[in-house]
Amino acid sequence: LSDTPAHTTPTSAELRPGDASWMAAHWMPFTGNRQFKADPRIIVAAEGAYLIDADGRRVFDGLSGLWCTGLGHGRREIVEAVSRQVATLDYSPAFQFGHPLSFELANRIVERLPAGLNRVMFTASGSEAADTALKIARAYWRVRGQASKTRLIGRAKGYHGVNFGGVSVGGIVGNRKLFGQGVEADHLPHTQPPAGAFFRGQPPADGAGLYAGAALADELLRLIELHDASTIAAVIVEPMSGSAGVVVPPQGYLQRLRDICTQHDILLIFDEVITGFGRCGAWTGAEAFGVVPDMLTFAKQVTNGVQPLGGVAVRQGIYDAFMDAGGPTYALEFPHGYTYSAHPVACAAGLASMALLQRDNAPERVRALAPVFEAKVHSLRGASPHLLDIRNYGLAAGLTLAPAPGEPLKRPFEVAMRMWAKGFYVRYGGDTVQLAPPFISTEAEIDRLVDALGETLRALD
Ligand code: PLP
Repeated sequence: LSDTPAHTTPTSAELRPGDASWMAAHWMPFTGNRQFKADPRIIVAAEGAYLIDADGRRVFDGLSGLWCTGLGHGRREIVEAVSRQVATLDYSPAFQFGHPLSFELANRIVERLPAGLNRVMFTASGSEAADTALKIARAYWRVRGQASKTRLIGRAKGYHGVNFGGVSVGGIVGNRKLFGQGVEADHLPHTQPPAGAFFRGQPPADGAGLYAGAALADELLRLIELHDASTIAAVIVEPMSGSAGVVVPPQGYLQRLRDICTQHDILLIFDEVITGFGRCGAWTGAEAFGVVPDMLTFAKQVTNGVQPLGGVAVRQGIYDAFMDAGGPTYALEFPHGYTYSAHPVACAAGLASMALLQRDNAPERVRALAPVFEAKVHSLRGASPHLLDIRNYGLAAGLTLAPAPGEPLKRPFEVAMRMWAKGFYVRYGGDTVQLAPPFISTEAEIDRLVDALGETLRALD
């Protein structure tokens, strides 16, 4: 670094949007910075189901932001709640003092969760929610006198954010390989059906003979045999994996995981950062799939993406174990939290979003749209020889594309760029293209989105 040239960048006042140097200072997250800065896609406004780019184009928001703006952009009730709150109490210390909105929001959230998950710790993001849940799991066994239960079990293709705990249990190799040793973890196999399965919705328990299906959950028994349950704190899975490209559990799989965890005194954590609050056509993935975990993380849709907020809901018994072991009442029972845990402005957005999800009957709306969406996305089958699989659940779909020779990530990127040029935003990740339209989408908008994708796939080399 000693021969780094003197700082010659113009002051920000001299820079103009569009100059290459205007964009240089921002190292963008999860982005191909070199490609983006050569061909920027700048979004300047949004309304309803549409993003508006710097050229004034209206682009359909085919991933609801990043799976978080199901209610659409610019909802007046949320805007007003946030504006009011920022003018009333812009910040309140998160530790040892409280503000009314966090308690109110915890109550509203608990009402929407499966019975028994009734204590909520807030964070400011999904990654923080995942790491908080993993820390609660380890600390829980410790306060219960079982300090050897520290190992965390994730799953191949799992995504639990980017912090060290989440990366350690995560199963997407590209997110792991640069970061070295994480926390003590092991992994279940993924549940993605083989290429060519094209299952509609939830795959059958026997995987239609194509793969192990529900029996994949028994791999947890193998990990228990290897490590012993006395060393395992928790299993964490997304009820439906989003970031890996919409991987839906086969029937019976989550129930079997639940049963094994219960039999072996292992906590089961559902990471519901994507599935929480509507995406699956139910308030939670737990509700959609009929399985109740011991802890459930959420983020994204809880504020409709308007403010950063996440959290972990736990069974009361977990909370009580900390209270019982807490020592004098003024002592901390769990030394953990963030400056922005339950930020008052984020809680205001959360309360408004939860109220709108209820008023709009969002889960019912998703349930009603899901069959239309399913039929439409599966009509893409055969659109390209490179299209290897289509998976869907609720208002989410993932398409797997065959790798181009020598450039395994290129085809999904190309599809997303061509879609953007046509006025549709979709996500690309690994070998997949992902769709998660807003809950407020009309059938005509879903038709146009999928038709544009079909046209794009048909033109794909
Ligand atoms: N967990 C899951 C299941 C997610 O899908 C995500 C984000 O997509 C995260 C955690 C991380 O959330 P955040 O990006 O808010 O940190």
